[in-house]
Amino acid sequence: MICKDYKGESISRLGMGNMRLPTVAGAGRGAPIDFDKAAEIIDYAMKNGITYFDTAYVYAGSEDFLGKVLPKYDRSSFKLATKYMAGANPDFKAVFEEQLKRLNTDYIDFYLMHGIMNEDGIQSYVGRGCLEYFLEQKAKGRIKNLGFSSHAPIPVLEKMIAAHDWDFAQIQLNYLDWTMQDAKGQYEVLTKAGIPVIVMEPVRGGRLASLSPKADAVLKEAHPDWSIASWAFRWLLRLDNVQVILSGMSSMEQIQDNVKTFDVGGPLSDEDAAILEKACDMFRGEINVPCTGCRYCCDDCPMSIEIPKVMEIYNKMKLDGPMQIFGLFGMNPGPKDCVGCGACASHCPQGIQIPEIMAELKAQLEKMPPMPMGPRP
Ligand code: SF4
Ligand code: SF4
Repeated sequence: MICKDYKGESISRLGMGNMRLPTVAGAGRGAPIDFDKAAEIIDYAMKNGITYFDTAYVYAGSEDFLGKVLPKYDRSSFKLATKYMAGANPDFKAVFEEQLKRLNTDYIDFYLMHGIMNEDGIQSYVGRGCLEYFLEQKAKGRIKNLGFSSHAPIPVLEKMIAAHDWDFAQIQLNYLDWTMQDAKGQYEVLTKAGIPVIVMEPVRGGRLASLSPKADAVLKEAHPDWSIASWAFRWLLRLDNVQVILSGMSSMEQIQDNVKTFDVGGPLSDEDAAILEKACDMFRGEINVPCTGCRYCCDDCPMSIEIPKVMEIYNKMKLDGPMQIFGLFGMNPGPKDCVGCGACASHCPQGIQIPEIMAELKAQLEKMPPMPMGPRP
């Protein structure tokens, strides 16, 4: 297992994410963690040199599970990371005490303010005594390193960075989001601030475990013995400020493949990185409609549909699944209003078959469950 120094200690580059542990088969939605299967994964992780274990207060059953399975190992032999989410329970003092109990430990190695999305998110952690409380816990040795996880755009991320001298930060980072979600910009801002990066979603929730048949073939031709997912990990190893790469491993096959990747070690060579870029371009081209947002299609639409916005949501749906089209429910006029006249397509310099896409989205919208009404809980 390849490791990296963190403040004088060696930590595995591969971290065990505990959000997607196997659950009891056939128990339906919200099924409990399958203790035996999940414990087998943790034991394999330990045996193979993984020393970073990540969980959160809001990962159902995960802290309790780790609190049962980890104590048989020497506490100094692994790092435990968990998170506080203000939106789930505003009582940060009670949550922290509960987490220590659940995890069966008297300290947390890496403690995170969970899921910064916007400025309100920053305020919910730094503006009501929460940060001060966690700093007190750090002074007492109950928290060893204090950081945050973020999905925020760069201006918000910069404000969070400025709020405290953080020990580390966790962001979504992978070769697809590098440009698509400006993960590159986020990584660079953190690196400039001297904050080590913990990576979440290295395989984009499994999406990068298989791209498309054509793109996968390019990668397989270059390295027949590498899994498609392993390219994502090797790509991340090229980034010097990446400390730990978390993978939410939910089966023995996944952890065995990942351990194999991190045992051999080494980042992608420049030559392999170029091959990956080629496969990635191919993949994007296959799933995306190449809308440039020029708006030539908009003027003649008799229904005044905001066509470029629809194309943007369509691309998200192709990449991340049908839930992405919830944004279309509130769009008036939207795909449901399209009369299929074709006036748009004749103006599109990219040759996009807009009426066909509108029809596909209309059919998809009709299949979706109704939007929940009333105030959010
Ligand atoms: S086909 Fe639909 S989107 Fe295109 S111009 Fe006609 S109504 Fe508008
Ligand atoms: S004309 Fe084509 S490329 Fe331009 S905004 Fe409309 S759909 Fe997109």
